[in-house]
This record gives sequence, C-alpha cells and structure tokens, in this order.
Amino acid sequence: IITLAIESSCDETSAAILKNGRDVISNIVATQIDLHKKFGGVVPEVASRKHVESIDAVIQSALDEANMTFDDIDIIGVTHGPGLVGALLVGLSTAKALSFALNKPLVGVNHIEGHISANFIQDKELEPPFICLIVSGGHTHLAEVKDYGKYEILGRTRDDAAGEAFDKIARAMKLGYPGGPIIDRLSKMGDKDSIKFPRIYLENDSYDFSFSGLKSSVLNYLNAKKMKNEDIVVEDVAASFQQSVVEVLTSKAIKAAKEKGYDKIVLAGGVAANSGLREMLVTECKSHNIDVKYPSLDLCTDNAAMIGCAAYYDYINGKVDDLSLNAVPNLKLGQK
Ligand code: ATP
Ligand code: MG
Ligand code: FE
Repeated sequence: IITLAIESSCDETSAAILKNGRDVISNIVATQIDLHKKFGGVVPEVASRKHVESIDAVIQSALDEANMTFDDIDIIGVTHGPGLVGALLVGLSTAKALSFALNKPLVGVNHIEGHISANFIQDKELEPPFICLIVSGGHTHLAEVKDYGKYEILGRTRDDAAGEAFDKIARAMKLGYPGGPIIDRLSKMGDKDSIKFPRIYLENDSYDFSFSGLKSSVLNYLNAKKMKNEDIVVEDVAASFQQSVVEVLTSKAIKAAKEKGYDKIVLAGGVAANSGLREMLVTECKSHNIDVKYPSLDLCTDNAAMIGCAAYYDYINGKVDDLSLNAVPNLKLGQK
C-alpha cells in the first residue's frame, strides 16, 4: 500500500510518501519557523496563509522525490487534529479534494498518534505494547500503547506542555524561537546543578505533570537577578531548568513502566529531540533493564511521514473517512 500523507497542524507544511506504513520514500517538510520568529511564536493566521501558499508545491516535491504520480497512490492520510484550526483546514481540504478527484480512500489521522508512530518508522522491529512518553509543543502525555491505534492515557500535564515550557523560558531570556533546541544547546555549556529549581512531582501516585510552577520559579529568578543588577548566566539557567524537566519526565516514565509491567519506553514529540532527556532516560533505564527508543531528530518534530505511518495502521484496521471529515483542534489521544 502506497500512502500519501499530509501534515499542516501547526507551522510545518509537510507531505510524505510511504510504502506499507514504515518505509519512507519521501518526506518533504517546509518549516515556517523563520516567518514566525519575529513574533516569538506561531501566529495562527500567518501560518494558515503560508500553508495555502506552500502545500501544492510540497505535495508535488514529495511525488517527484519518490518518482511517482498521483496514480501510484493507494490511500491519502491527513492530520485532522489536534492543532490550529485554520492550519489544519488547509491540509485537510487539500486531502479531501485529492481523495474526491482521484477516488482514493481518505484517512484522518490524530497528530499525536502520528508523533508516536514516528517510532515505527525509526525502528522497523518495534511493536506495541510499550509505555510512551509524548512530549511536544502542545502536549505532555504518559500513555500505554496497547496495540497499533490503541492507547490508554496514564497521565497528562495539568498546565503547560513540556515544549511550551522550553519555549516560554527561552522567550523570557530573549533567546529566540523555538526555544527547545536553543535551551538544549546552551545547557551543554552550563552547570545543571548551579541553580535549584523545583521538581514538581504532584501526588505520590500521580502520573500527571505540571510545569507552570517551574516556569514561575525560573521567571522569579530572572526578575530577582535583574532587580539586583546581577548578571544572568543563561547557560546555567538553561541547564538547571532543563535538568528539572528531564528528571521529572524520566522518573515518571520509569515509574509507569515498572508499575504497569513494561520493559520498553518510547519517546515521542518535539521534546524527544532533547539531548538531556535522551541521555538521562537511557542511563536510568539501563539500571532498570528497560529498553528505550526514540525517533531521529527529523522524525521528532512535525513531519508527514509519521502521519502516513499512523494512517496506514488506521487503514488496515478498517478506518476510512468520508468527505464530511472535519478539523478537530482539540482532538484527544485515542480519538479518531
Ligand atoms: P503538538 O505536537 O503538541 O501539536 P507541535 O506540533 O507544535 O505541538 P512538536 O512539533 O512536537 O510540537 O515539537 C515542537 C516543540 O518541540 C517546541 O516546543 C520545541 O521547542 C520543542 N523542541 C524541539 N527540539 C527540542 C529540543 N532539542 N529540546 C527541547 N525541546 C525541543
Ligand atoms: Mg512546529
Ligand atoms: Fe507536533
């Protein structure tokens, strides 16, 4: 089965072609980061317009790179949520038009399931069940992946998402957008033990997360330094902040694996690109005999290949949508 996949939920316009769900033949990503940089974050209306401008060329590039035409496509997979409604609608309308014109099945994909599925592309042998830690710009979930397309959420963030926290702290220090990769880079030059920021674990038995208290603590630290006219060592702030996030994420993921009886933890989402998180999870899991998997950097952040993989498994499990498929900005993990 050849899948054409389309992703436009946020600030990446992307199209990919996959064979049987796990072999990526092409994966074109047109990022809008430069466009949104000057605003310090994604401006929804600007994003939608740019998607409209880019999408046809991105799809054509995906076909060209695969040496294929629309005739070679068997199914069309598209992100229909969660995400920015105007941005989602661009990819979704395009996919519906193609499905109608070419008379090929349309499969609506949950973007978060796409992030998880990036791991099936990365590791061709990987099979559910496993524990998945999903850490992205808008979501933080700890979930049991029981089978392809079958999820049980154990915990989620009660306030900011992990990626959002990285972006907000970077913004407060005027480091640029998106903040995650910048904080990651600066952390390597800083001392992670230099500033004592809180680790928020919530109730003993909870798999939920909270990052807004940590964020306030970092902001208070920065303000106090400014008031006293003292220098801020951004590398130390970055490293200490990152360490606090990484410790809590790692410890809750391992706790979930142990308590639920899993020997595999899989990382997903943009923050899965974080070098501190990868290192600590690998180290800690080794001593607990737990296997750790994560996607390559380009498969962590938004891309259509991961959407194509999720679409394939949805399709072989019987999911086909009709042209009434709508964009669902707050689509939850496990909802199709
Ligand atoms: P969602 O998937 O929840 O809808 P999104 O699609 O905007 O949100 P992703 O594409 O998964 O988010 O990831 C983008 C996020 O990942 C940003 O918040 C970015 O700062 C963060 N990020 C990317 N690389 C790193 C890194 N190396 N360290 C930490 N965070 C990172
Ligand atoms: Mg993005
Ligand atoms: Fe995403």
